Amino acid sequence: MLRVGFIGWRGMVGSVLMQRMREEKDFAGLDPVFFSTSNVGGAAPKECADGGLLKDGADLRELARCDVLISCQGGEYTGEVYGPLRKGKWTGYWIDAASALRMSEDAVIILDPVNAEVIRSALAKNVRAYIGGNCTVSLMLMAVSGLFRAGLVEWMTTMTYQAASGAGAAKMLELVKQIGFLTDATRKTPSENALEVDRAMILEQRSPRLPVKEFGVPLAGSLIPWIAEEMPEGQTKEEWKGMAETNKIMGIDPPVPVDGICVRVGTMRCHSQGLCIKLKKDVPLADIEQILAGGNAWVRVIPNNKESTTRCLTPTAVSGTLSVPIGRIHKLKMGPKFVGAFTVGDQLLWGAAEPLRRMLGILRSHLNA
Ligand code: NAP
Repeated sequence: MLRVGFIGWRGMVGSVLMQRMREEKDFAGLDPVFFSTSNVGGAAPKECADGGLLKDGADLRELARCDVLISCQGGEYTGEVYGPLRKGKWTGYWIDAASALRMSEDAVIILDPVNAEVIRSALAKNVRAYIGGNCTVSLMLMAVSGLFRAGLVEWMTTMTYQAASGAGAAKMLELVKQIGFLTDATRKTPSENALEVDRAMILEQRSPRLPVKEFGVPLAGSLIPWIAEEMPEGQTKEEWKGMAETNKIMGIDPPVPVDGICVRVGTMRCHSQGLCIKLKKDVPLADIEQILAGGNAWVRVIPNNKESTTRCLTPTAVSGTLSVPIGRIHKLKMGPKFVGAFTVGDQLLWGAAEPLRRMLGILRSHLNA
């Protein structure tokens, strides 16, 4: 039986991965073992067949006993163990949610509904590292892969509205604490006067007592137009990934320019993005919608009207589902080759856990073939 080691299974991505694998009965026929970086020797999830205890995520010998390692632990962890494992001649398959290895020449970015051929060809060439893409990039490609595949995109901007859970469990919990803190304040001095409530809210948002250990600043009732490290030329790392990962996932050369501004908003789950797409030629709107709808089995074109948009194209509607709606599709005033659109997707599903569990499935079929 394939021995599969899971690291980071209790974090945001890891727990959604566990949930999806249970739903799809993916554990059947596997020998799963679970690692921890904070609770070695603690109780492992019920699927664990190996004594039921958590193994040490830093124990290279124990990790190397696995045929496949799936890490949702983060880039720092990948940096600590991946090189030493390979140096120690471990030849197993590494499947990872973190960005650390994404741009490595020995690794493939996995998003099989849009790049199954790239994955299959890598397996045939004995590539051993399969890395989930950046959540925003993966969700954008799930929505517009049809246009990329048709070779229609000259360039694209993405303006994002990214959920707190995209930054991990601790950040998500802090957002809820901030919401509670602000709501409590309005309960203390109830008022129906909106200006008074607004004044009370801003005082609390600026209060030193607001919990901001994770985000550093208030997110509830606000937003943060900066995600990840600073890069040259004014971009953040999150924005830099847009172009680098899109072109690597789709195998496009010369690369299509993709850029924009990435913003953290007070949404719990689901990343949303406003897109401006410059097409290589003028394509009728009905054809664009058809090409988008044919991109994969999960993309859903939402009619550009108020009722459908407000009902189907929000984080509240999409959270916890695998569908990736794209709507507000219309030609922009800049000219007939410019298309505006808005898309929402659950970044913990297609943006993180789902490509990992599907990669394990693809790998199992490959090994059994
Ligand atoms: P996370 O929720 O912070 O979990 C990572 C690890 O943090 C856990 O495995 C756990 O390790 C530890 N941890 C600390 N406090 C925790 C708490 N309160 N609840 C649960 N775990 C806690 O991170 P993540 O969002 O899952 O991200 C994992 C990796 O995937 C990162 O590299 C991230 O960049 C990438 N990624 C994330 C998303 C997303 O939407 N969140 C999307 C795509 C890629 P121990 O059990 O060993 O203590």
